[in-house]
Amino acid sequence: MTTTPYPAVAPEEAGGHLTIDLGALAANYADLARRVAPAQCAAVVKGDAYGLGLEPAAHAFWRAGARVFFVALLSEARRLRTALPEATIYVLNGLFAGTEPVYRDLELRPALGSMEEIERWAAYCGEIGEALPAAVHVDTGMNRLGLSPAEAVGLAESPDPLPFTMALLMSHLACADDPSHALTARQLEDFQAIAALFPGVPASLANSAATLGDKALHFDLVRPGIAVYGGLSRGGTAPLQPVVRLDLRIIQLRDVHEGEAVGYGAAQTVGRLSRIAIVSAGYADGIPRLAGSSDLRRGAQLIVAGRRCPLVGRISMDLMAIDVTEVPTGEVEAGDFATLLGEGIGVDELARHAETIGYEILTSLGRRYHRRYIG
Ligand SMILES: *Cc1c(COP(=O)(O)O)cnc(C)c1O
Repeated sequence: MTTTPYPAVAPEEAGGHLTIDLGALAANYADLARRVAPAQCAAVVKGDAYGLGLEPAAHAFWRAGARVFFVALLSEARRLRTALPEATIYVLNGLFAGTEPVYRDLELRPALGSMEEIERWAAYCGEIGEALPAAVHVDTGMNRLGLSPAEAVGLAESPDPLPFTMALLMSHLACADDPSHALTARQLEDFQAIAALFPGVPASLANSAATLGDKALHFDLVRPGIAVYGGLSRGGTAPLQPVVRLDLRIIQLRDVHEGEAVGYGAAQTVGRLSRIAIVSAGYADGIPRLAGSSDLRRGAQLIVAGRRCPLVGRISMDLMAIDVTEVPTGEVEAGDFATLLGEGIGVDELARHAETIGYEILTSLGRRYHRRYIG
């Protein structure tokens, strides 16, 4: 029932084992859905469900009660429709010209983000004589997608009835993760004013941070992504249960003498006789090269035999090195695994070492791992 789009890699052949806990995913969704009731909780599954696999994630959310889903692209919506024949599916990146019939045939809903898209959807619905549903996306200060507030007012005041069904009015927050940021209050105020012009149309504003925040931001439907996947929202709202575990194979151990360097560029020199474990994963597996280590800057850590061990030197395409000198002899050998995510190391910790965000760590997770879905 749970399918994955990734080519299966046998566990004994893989450089790393990626474990995705669908039970934790479902529990996180259910937790948020409870917090926001009576508002409805959607699931955002764009970017291949933040890199975790669209189909397995979608099934887990559906079983946990999710009925409304957001993807970015029509290609993702097609896959999701096959997985969930009855779901309500919105496509956030809008209506690409010529794709209108696909929306009708697969019962998908575009998030219309410009007047040009609205006119095209209206023309199509007029032509086929069906008032198909769509979301209207209004920009309230992010300057990314959406009608300007003035265009939204124009739409509300237009004398002719719309030839399509406005099933959702939405906007997106730029700084919800920073409660002190003045833009959130301004976006909320503007969105409330616009929503008042469309009585009876369900409204949606909240991403993860806003879903975890003030009830005033929830409106009728919330759209959490990252929190459900166990990451922090940008800036630092408390994470729910971790969902991802990543164990990487140690393929050999070697001694490196004091004063010798490890890896490309000889970027890090060891200050003592060191036991170095070589791990079979690198930046081709989505581990950011920026998380590597050098004499100037400490890199990420992995857990080996219950101990935190630092990376040594640069991350290569398919390999990296960790210092396991502190692990007692006999507790680590070739064939063991080092944990890069899990056992207390979250996606956000790894992200910090690479000057990025947990979102990017998740969506970059490699295709060469043995993927295991549990729960
Ligand atoms: C990605 C996205 C979300 C989810 O954001 P998170 O920060 O992951 O919760 C919600 N709404 C829109 C429009 C998005 O693009």
